[in-house]
Amino acid sequence: MGWFVGPECVVCSARGAAVCESCWQSLDPPGTEGPRALFAYTGAGRDIVAALKFRGRRRLAPFLAGPLATLTPAGLSLVTWAPTSLARRSARGFDQAELLAVALAKRIGVPAQSALARAPGDPQTGLSKTARHRGPTFVAVGPSLMNGAKVLVVDDVVTTGATLEAARVVLLEAGATEVITMAVAKTAKLRPT
Ligand SMILES: [Zn+2]
Repeated sequence: MGWFVGPECVVCSARGAAVCESCWQSLDPPGTEGPRALFAYTGAGRDIVAALKFRGRRRLAPFLAGPLATLTPAGLSLVTWAPTSLARRSARGFDQAELLAVALAKRIGVPAQSALARAPGDPQTGLSKTARHRGPTFVAVGPSLMNGAKVLVVDDVVTTGATLEAARVVLLEAGATEVITMAVAKTAKLRPT
């Protein structure tokens, strides 16, 4: 133990990058179903998401922005994110999806913009399991920016795909021409979209 608080791998604690080369190589590839993603939500992939989400390892966001940038299509108008619930945001002090979107936007030189809010009566604020299974509901904010925009929506992890699909539909209704969805990790079995 010492004063050194330098970067270490969030998976194995090796000194160096936010995720060391060996742990990065151990990640399972994401499936082809659903949104673009860097890796499967398994093994070290789960550890990386948990480190960002629950252990507050915010420097994972700029680290992951590099690989995410390679999945990003050209000609984007803006990068946005699927906002987490207010309760979770205030418990953690940050929104991990926002951190990722802002870091990625900076990396690719496209504006990051808050474009979605949780709708009033959002089912995920309730405790009913069936309600949570339906996924969150969103409303578009700043709709003047949406007209004709090509928007990228970022999230940390895709489980059922319902969150990013809800975000996509709302942004298209708000006037976006094209909405691309992307996550850091996704579960192996997603419903076909
Ligand atoms: Zn490692």
